[in-house]
Amino acid sequence: MEAHSTLRLERSGMLTLSDMAKYPFIPEAAEYIRRLDFKIENLLEDDYAPILSRAEKRIIDALTTNPPKVGYNPREYGEDIEIISFPVAIVLVSALANENVKRRYALAEAKRAYELLREENWEKVIEVARRFGWRIRAANERIGSVKFDFALNFIDYLRNISSFHEKDWKLVNRPVLKGEVYLSKQDVARLLQEEIQRYIEAKIDPKVRSILPEEILKHLERLRQTCAEKIRESPVEDISSLNSIGVVGDAFPPCIRQLYEAAQSGRHISHIGRFTLTSFLIKVGMDKNMIVDLFRKSADFNERMTRYQIEHIAGERGSGTKYTPPKCDTLQTHGLCPGANDLCKKIKHPLAYYLRSARSLKKKFRG
Ligand code: SF4
Repeated sequence: MEAHSTLRLERSGMLTLSDMAKYPFIPEAAEYIRRLDFKIENLLEDDYAPILSRAEKRIIDALTTNPPKVGYNPREYGEDIEIISFPVAIVLVSALANENVKRRYALAEAKRAYELLREENWEKVIEVARRFGWRIRAANERIGSVKFDFALNFIDYLRNISSFHEKDWKLVNRPVLKGEVYLSKQDVARLLQEEIQRYIEAKIDPKVRSILPEEILKHLERLRQTCAEKIRESPVEDISSLNSIGVVGDAFPPCIRQLYEAAQSGRHISHIGRFTLTSFLIKVGMDKNMIVDLFRKSADFNERMTRYQIEHIAGERGSGTKYTPPKCDTLQTHGLCPGANDLCKKIKHPLAYYLRSARSLKKKFRG
């Protein structure tokens, strides 16, 4: 690691070496690595073992935390290791060529950045945002009784709220003056999280595998096994008892409630959102005609197709597989978890939430 520490980096804009360790996706970090003349083959040298191990840790963190988040501890890893291990992790995730690992990893890195940005001063937040071309400025203005830290061009705002479902984020519910949306620091950090996640996902390219040395591929196989164990769908706690509970709408977890309300009002729901809602409702025993009716307001509703899809998910068509809704971490990865409540923190699957919540509601009802 000697060679790294002797290379001094001038301050670029306002971002320092420690900023690059925190935000290793910024162009200055890539430039820093380029100047070190680091190559992927270097990872096979003993000196570079900590970088490979930190890169693997980044990925394992992403797959084992809920919600996914890569840890950050400047006392544990030096700045060089933090900076270089990020593109190494991108290469490893690319070579793993697994869509779920890719999305989870990108989300986990983006969440790490979100947590760090929330604690930064406004100058630093602006510097990071500008690396993505955002037209943003410090506002420090009061509108009514609320103080806003930043003003962001509304196009940059809209680009980053497309996957948000909460009403709060709709442009009509935000103060907009002369094409700028007024925001708190926390809001800006949250929007940057979206930008960073998309950026990282775009960097992950499965073609990279073909250029990796044999030794790295062996490492990768070990990592693949660890990943396979971590992402294997864990069985939901005793769902066989679901049928005896019946449909208790009040026991739906927040994610399902949100999807249900979107379907009721005819709002667009992504493919995975529809699959989640339908498979959940089938599992809790809702009548299939009622599920068909639920989707009636959707702009592209087609009764025959909707019925076919419901029957397919129920295992009455095709291969006969009865599908189960995705686990919480998958829903979080796809932006379908509106935020965990107290009960969510004790479970890992929306059906487990339902089971516990429905049982406790029934107990309360019986007195
Ligand atoms: S934590 Fe799980 S059950 Fe709770 S809202 Fe999120 S996805 Fe749904």
